[in-house]
Amino acid sequence: MKFSTKAIHTGQKPDKETGAIIPPIYMTSTYVQEAPAQHKGYDYTRAGNPNFTNIEATLAALEDGKFATVFSSGLGGLSGILSMLKAGDTIVGTADMYGGSYRLINRIFINYGILFKSINTQNLQEVEAVLKEKPGLIFLETPTNPLLKISDIKAITALAGKYGVLSVVDNTFATPYFQNPLNLGADMVLHSTTKFIGGHSDVIGGVVITNNADIKEKLDFGRMAIGLNPSPFDVWLGSRGIKTLAVRMERHGENALALARFLVKHPKVKKVYYPGLESHPHHDIARQQMRGFSGIVSVEFDFNLEDTKKLISNFKYFSLAESLGGVESLVDHPASMTHASIPKAEREEIGLTDGLVRFSVGIEDYEDLQNDIEQAIALLK
Ligand SMILES: *Cc1c(COP(=O)(O)O)cnc(C)c1O
Repeated sequence: MKFSTKAIHTGQKPDKETGAIIPPIYMTSTYVQEAPAQHKGYDYTRAGNPNFTNIEATLAALEDGKFATVFSSGLGGLSGILSMLKAGDTIVGTADMYGGSYRLINRIFINYGILFKSINTQNLQEVEAVLKEKPGLIFLETPTNPLLKISDIKAITALAGKYGVLSVVDNTFATPYFQNPLNLGADMVLHSTTKFIGGHSDVIGGVVITNNADIKEKLDFGRMAIGLNPSPFDVWLGSRGIKTLAVRMERHGENALALARFLVKHPKVKKVYYPGLESHPHHDIARQQMRGFSGIVSVEFDFNLEDTKKLISNFKYFSLAESLGGVESLVDHPASMTHASIPKAEREEIGLTDGLVRFSVGIEDYEDLQNDIEQAIALLK
């Protein structure tokens, strides 16, 4: 079965009792038992629910994996993963990961004796030297947010395997439509389903996918024991979104590439970050491990902080908001919004300049999006 067929049919069997083509939402906290501990596989929704089972089958299939566990959010999923570690374990990863992931590791789990070590994943010798010290896990986000750096999943997870270190790839930006980290050697794939997978900016959710039955059992246990479960309604909305994932991602990718090519030539643009551009420093690795480059484009405009802020308030279709991956286009200003907590000097060092703007390119008609950016720039003169 191919991608779209799986997205539509796997885990989405018509309801046996009524014939309803769409499985119902099981809004229930508990399940009647025939005798003590004798039930149909569900006893309490914190531990499991038919809607979770359905979407887990779909998401595992889309990542070419065996098992999936859904969570309350992407960070809920990361908490589930981190609950497998012990005091004294180290997590290694890139410092420019999603800010919330960084905060979860460095503000919460650090208090339980779990340490973070930042590495440059572009340098495989450095990666190997760190893996030799047997950290608890290596966490890769590729492409990264918002600078869209690419790490070589195959090379790095092979090194992790050599030293028996668990590897996790946050695949939120690429989605399973464009990249399948398990097939490249990762032990776990994490998604914020809030983003492209849900796709309609109406739900918060997360998932972890693996081929390892022992990891699946630990993730399920972590979800149940900590209370990281999603709502059956949210999960049902997620299942609804997934059915159009392939067509949405095609359009996100087309619109983003067209916009990146347009902006690269614009006189008011200093730099465009998009892994689909030949000029992207990691374009070759991106082409090897991705089938497309998704819908996020970051742009450094030739404007100071004040004008950049004016610019992003001038858009008609790019709504100024955090988050990404919905059908509607969004714009974010990392220096004053998502990454404001980083001191300016440090921000500039990693490339998060005052003129940097992150576009989540939606699936509207391309011409309208390009015109929107042109009119917003024209208003500044
Ligand atoms: C949004 C996001 C997360 C966190 O997901 P939530 O659903 O907001 O908890 C993690 N990683 C990446 C790359 C994200 O974009």
